[in-house]
Amino acid sequence: MKELDWSNLPFGYMKTDYNVRIYYRNEQWGALEVCSEETIPMHMAATCLHYGQEAFEGMKAFRGKDGKIRIFRLEENAARLQSTCRGILMPELSTERFKEAILKVVKLNERFIPPYESGASLYIRPLLIGTSAQVGVHPAKEYLFVTFVTPVGPYFKGGFSTNPYVIIREFDRAAPHGTGTYKVGGNYAASLRANKKAHDLGYACEFYLDAKEKKYIDECGAANFFGIKDNTYITPESTSILPSITNKSLMQLAEDIGMKVERRPVLEEELLTFEEAGACGTAAVISPIERIDDVEKGKSYVISKDGKPGPISTKLYNKLRAIQYGDEPDTHGWITIVE
Ligand SMILES: *Cc1c(COP(=O)(O)O)cnc(C)c1O
Repeated sequence: MKELDWSNLPFGYMKTDYNVRIYYRNEQWGALEVCSEETIPMHMAATCLHYGQEAFEGMKAFRGKDGKIRIFRLEENAARLQSTCRGILMPELSTERFKEAILKVVKLNERFIPPYESGASLYIRPLLIGTSAQVGVHPAKEYLFVTFVTPVGPYFKGGFSTNPYVIIREFDRAAPHGTGTYKVGGNYAASLRANKKAHDLGYACEFYLDAKEKKYIDECGAANFFGIKDNTYITPESTSILPSITNKSLMQLAEDIGMKVERRPVLEEELLTFEEAGACGTAAVISPIERIDDVEKGKSYVISKDGKPGPISTKLYNKLRAIQYGDEPDTHGWITIVE
């Protein structure tokens, strides 16, 4: 293989050697299959294509200074996929089977795991879809679980930096009792217009308020929000936020460094009071927020006065990355080492 330019990889799809698949038929999950084909042959009446029976996950594997490969919070991703399955009536894949599949696909594609020095990583994308043919609206009888991997570059090429966001009221990502807490493609389809509008206005991403009252903070694009003030890490609680594993980890790390952690509804106006704020998720860990504009109300909440990431966000970011790469001890049991 031609040596890849590890430090300049985009966050995109690149063909690797193998993917792994497990089929659900006759009310049970079958054996793990290794595949080098990139396509999925499917019936045109598959429920995933018509009724959105589709769930996905996202996590990463990292190569450490010691050469070891570490996967971050594998069991948490398995549990979240199970929760999504309950949400859209798909059969759950056990944590054990999920782990077996992820470890296999990472191991098989070992040559695509970027070297430690690059700051890049291997993105892991599990997908679960309803595949059997159906025209009436019911859950499918057959499913396919497939996982592929792709090497992705360091998120912050020019160094950890801040971005501007814009509040979009015109389009909702998820309803209060809809599928916002599940990682399903439908939520992303629903977010495309808001995302395009934010980009057209020159912002990094859209910022959502709760769909019902438009008073409380929900999510920043496809990432969770956190704000920091008075030595407290504050993250919104709502019935339409996707439970981010990165956010959960940051809450723990904030506690570890002696901060208070609050998970509660956060009013838009409270944005005025944060000393720091960020969007968090697997892709970037933390993407610090420079400001959040409310164009409709002619307001701008400037979070970072100097345009730079704040000290606590930087500390949390460095701490989490250090655990992922194995530079700091994994005191919470978040890492699975690929043997
Ligand atoms: C995946 C996702 C996140 C981030 O979750 P992580 O587990 O931290 O990667 C946040 N919001 C939405 C809508 C998501 O789909």
